[in-house]
Amino acid sequence: MSLTEKVYLVDHHRIGRQLGRSIPRAAFAGATLDHLYTGQQLDGLEPAIHDRVIAFNQDFLDCDCQSNPYCGHAAEKFARWVLGERLDGRAPDEIIDAMRDAYGVYVYHGDLVNFLDDAIRLLDALTDLAAVEGAEDYAEEVASVRRGLEMGRQPSR
Ligand SMILES: [Zn+2]
Repeated sequence: MSLTEKVYLVDHHRIGRQLGRSIPRAAFAGATLDHLYTGQQLDGLEPAIHDRVIAFNQDFLDCDCQSNPYCGHAAEKFARWVLGERLDGRAPDEIIDAMRDAYGVYVYHGDLVNFLDDAIRLLDALTDLAAVEGAEDYAEEVASVRRGLEMGRQPSR
Protein backbone atom coordinates (compact mmCIF):
# COMPACT_ATOMS: atom_id res chain seq x y z
CA MET A 1 0.00 0.00 0.00
CA SER A 2 1.23 3.46 -0.78
CA LEU A 3 1.45 6.20 1.83
CA THR A 4 -1.55 8.04 0.43
CA GLU A 5 -3.80 5.07 1.15
CA LYS A 6 -2.93 5.61 4.81
CA VAL A 7 -3.71 9.32 5.03
CA TYR A 8 -6.70 9.98 7.31
CA LEU A 9 -9.02 12.88 8.09
CA VAL A 10 -8.43 14.34 11.56
CA ASP A 11 -12.04 15.58 11.80
CA HIS A 12 -13.63 12.61 10.09
CA HIS A 13 -16.65 12.36 12.41
CA ARG A 14 -17.34 16.10 12.60
CA ILE A 15 -17.09 16.41 8.82
CA GLY A 16 -19.65 13.62 8.40
CA ARG A 17 -22.01 15.32 10.87
CA GLN A 18 -21.55 18.77 9.41
CA LEU A 19 -22.02 17.65 5.80
CA GLY A 20 -24.91 15.37 6.70
CA ARG A 21 -23.38 12.45 4.84
CA SER A 22 -20.79 9.94 5.87
CA ILE A 23 -17.34 10.31 4.35
CA PRO A 24 -14.63 7.64 4.46
CA ARG A 25 -11.85 8.19 6.99
CA ALA A 26 -9.21 7.84 4.25
CA ALA A 27 -8.44 11.21 2.68
CA PHE A 28 -7.65 9.75 -0.75
CA ALA A 29 -10.62 7.36 -0.91
CA GLY A 30 -12.80 7.95 -3.98
CA ALA A 31 -15.84 9.10 -2.02
CA THR A 32 -13.73 11.54 0.02
CA LEU A 33 -12.27 13.06 -3.13
CA ASP A 34 -15.74 13.30 -4.67
CA HIS A 35 -17.81 14.58 -1.80
CA LEU A 36 -15.31 16.49 0.30
CA TYR A 37 -12.34 17.67 -1.74
CA THR A 38 -14.20 18.39 -4.95
CA GLY A 39 -17.61 18.72 -3.36
CA GLN A 40 -19.73 21.80 -3.93
CA GLN A 41 -21.80 21.68 -0.73
CA LEU A 42 -19.17 22.54 1.85
CA ASP A 43 -20.96 25.48 3.48
CA GLY A 44 -21.98 23.35 6.45
CA LEU A 45 -18.38 22.86 7.52
CA GLU A 46 -17.06 24.93 10.43
CA PRO A 47 -14.55 27.54 9.22
CA ALA A 48 -11.34 25.90 10.50
CA ILE A 49 -12.19 22.58 8.86
CA HIS A 50 -13.45 24.29 5.70
CA ASP A 51 -10.16 26.20 5.30
CA ARG A 52 -8.12 23.00 5.53
CA VAL A 53 -10.31 21.21 3.02
CA ILE A 54 -9.84 24.13 0.60
CA ALA A 55 -6.06 24.16 1.22
CA PHE A 56 -5.88 20.44 0.43
CA ASN A 57 -7.93 20.98 -2.73
CA GLN A 58 -5.79 23.92 -3.89
CA ASP A 59 -2.45 22.30 -3.19
CA PHE A 60 -3.08 18.74 -4.39
CA LEU A 61 -6.11 18.73 -6.69
CA ASP A 62 -5.31 21.72 -8.86
CA CYS A 63 -4.53 19.87 -12.11
CA ASP A 64 -6.72 20.23 -15.21
CA CYS A 65 -6.83 16.53 -16.07
CA GLN A 66 -10.17 15.32 -17.31
CA SER A 67 -10.09 12.43 -14.84
CA ASN A 68 -9.36 14.74 -11.87
CA PRO A 69 -9.57 13.79 -8.99
CA TYR A 70 -8.77 10.25 -10.18
CA CYS A 71 -5.76 11.05 -12.37
CA GLY A 72 -3.33 10.19 -9.56
CA HIS A 73 -1.69 13.61 -9.42
CA ALA A 74 -3.10 14.40 -5.98
CA ALA A 75 -1.38 11.38 -4.43
CA GLU A 76 1.83 12.20 -6.28
CA LYS A 77 1.79 15.81 -5.12
CA PHE A 78 1.07 14.79 -1.56
CA ALA A 79 4.05 12.38 -1.56
CA ARG A 80 6.24 15.13 -3.01
CA TRP A 81 5.05 17.52 -0.29
CA VAL A 82 6.07 15.00 2.40
CA LEU A 83 9.52 14.54 0.84
CA GLY A 84 9.92 18.31 0.62
CA GLU A 85 9.09 18.71 4.30
CA ARG A 86 11.71 16.08 5.12
CA LEU A 87 14.33 17.81 2.98
CA ASP A 88 13.44 21.05 4.78
CA GLY A 89 14.72 19.39 7.94
CA ARG A 90 11.50 18.26 9.61
CA ALA A 91 11.41 15.10 11.70
CA PRO A 92 8.57 12.62 11.00
CA ASP A 93 6.48 13.86 13.95
CA GLU A 94 6.93 17.45 12.80
CA ILE A 95 5.78 16.49 9.30
CA ILE A 96 2.68 14.86 10.79
CA ASP A 97 1.98 18.04 12.83
CA ALA A 98 2.44 20.14 9.70
CA MET A 99 -0.06 18.09 7.69
CA ARG A 100 -2.60 18.29 10.53
CA ASP A 101 -2.24 22.06 10.74
CA ALA A 102 -2.24 22.74 7.01
CA TYR A 103 -4.62 20.10 5.67
CA GLY A 104 -6.44 18.45 8.59
CA VAL A 105 -5.04 15.01 7.73
CA TYR A 106 -2.62 12.66 9.46
CA VAL A 107 -0.63 9.48 8.93
CA TYR A 108 0.74 7.15 11.56
CA HIS A 109 4.36 7.66 12.53
CA GLY A 110 5.38 4.15 11.45
CA ASP A 111 3.77 4.52 8.03
CA LEU A 112 5.59 7.80 7.43
CA VAL A 113 8.93 6.32 8.50
CA ASN A 114 8.37 3.33 6.18
CA PHE A 115 7.57 5.68 3.31
CA LEU A 116 10.79 7.64 3.86
CA ASP A 117 12.79 4.40 4.15
CA ASP A 118 11.30 3.15 0.88
CA ALA A 119 12.23 6.42 -0.83
CA ILE A 120 15.80 6.09 0.45
CA ARG A 121 16.03 2.50 -0.79
CA LEU A 122 14.72 3.55 -4.18
CA LEU A 123 17.37 6.26 -4.40
CA ASP A 124 20.03 3.70 -3.40
CA ALA A 125 18.96 1.49 -6.28
CA LEU A 126 19.01 4.49 -8.64
CA THR A 127 22.50 5.46 -7.49
CA ASP A 128 23.79 1.93 -8.13
CA LEU A 129 22.17 1.82 -11.54
CA ALA A 130 23.57 5.21 -12.53
CA ALA A 131 27.05 4.14 -11.37
CA VAL A 132 26.82 0.95 -13.42
CA GLU A 133 25.80 3.02 -16.44
CA GLY A 134 28.75 5.34 -15.90
CA ALA A 135 26.54 8.35 -15.15
CA GLU A 136 28.73 9.52 -12.28
CA ASP A 137 27.33 13.04 -11.98
CA TYR A 138 23.79 11.75 -11.86
CA ALA A 139 24.77 9.06 -9.35
CA GLU A 140 26.30 11.71 -7.10
CA GLU A 141 23.23 13.94 -7.41
CA VAL A 142 20.89 11.11 -6.44
CA ALA A 143 23.17 10.08 -3.57
CA SER A 144 23.08 13.66 -2.32
CA VAL A 145 19.27 13.75 -2.23
CA ARG A 146 19.34 10.37 -0.52
CA ARG A 147 21.61 11.72 2.23
CA GLY A 148 19.29 14.70 2.55
CA LEU A 149 16.29 12.43 3.12
CA GLU A 150 18.15 10.37 5.64
CA MET A 151 19.47 13.34 7.61
CA GLY A 152 16.42 15.55 7.06
CA ARG A 153 18.12 18.39 5.26
CA GLN A 154 18.48 19.88 1.81
CA PRO A 155 20.96 17.99 -0.37
CA SER A 156 24.34 19.68 -0.67
CA ARG A 157 26.59 19.19 -3.62
ZN1 LIG B 1 -4.08 15.29 -12.87
